[in-house]
Amino acid sequence: MAEEVLARIAEEVKNCRRCQLWSSKTNPVVGEGNLSPEVMFIGEAPGKNEDLQGRPFVGAAGKLLTELLEGIGLRREDVYITNVLKCRPPGNRDPLPEEVEACTPYLDEQVKALRPKFIVTLGRFSTAYAFSRAGLSFTSMTRVRGKVFRATLLGLKVSLMPTYHPAAALYNPKLRDELVKDFNSIKRELEALRGGSTGRSLSLSDFM
Ligand code: URA
Repeated sequence: MAEEVLARIAEEVKNCRRCQLWSSKTNPVVGEGNLSPEVMFIGEAPGKNEDLQGRPFVGAAGKLLTELLEGIGLRREDVYITNVLKCRPPGNRDPLPEEVEACTPYLDEQVKALRPKFIVTLGRFSTAYAFSRAGLSFTSMTRVRGKVFRATLLGLKVSLMPTYHPAAALYNPKLRDELVKDFNSIKRELEALRGGSTGRSLSLSDFM
């Protein structure tokens, strides 16, 4: 089911002209990974390497993302990885509001088809997207990062955690530390989701 929807989205994105980015891109980057994922990671937009390869997070930020995943026992194939924009903005500039509006119907469809239990947003663009779809108001990354929001997003009950974009942490050791902490929180949340609906730890009263 998800496979068919994702294949159709990939075809549509290939022929998409909903915004101007189609004309400057080399390849669109639809996303990749597990089609029945526990956790879905959403970045901002393809960069130079992603545009050349047609795959998400394959440059320097992608290397850090892969290491962070491996650090908490996940392989890239275990999760689904995509972006808010499917085509590279020239010179890696920020996505424009009209580009986000034109492109996010694809992301909406991806979320609905993949039905992740947990969505991790990387950076402010994907966090703003997820918060808007969950009816939450987004203030700033520093306020929301590392926190788990129990949200209903596009009709799906999910755990939602914003964290920093790995690119921002590449040359900033303080952000890198915080990103590592947030990935440890991702691990704990995944364990809680796997362990049952409450996700609480065992305590002495459990044995009395
Ligand atoms: N940055 C992103 O947000 N996405 C990618 O795929 C690569 C870099």
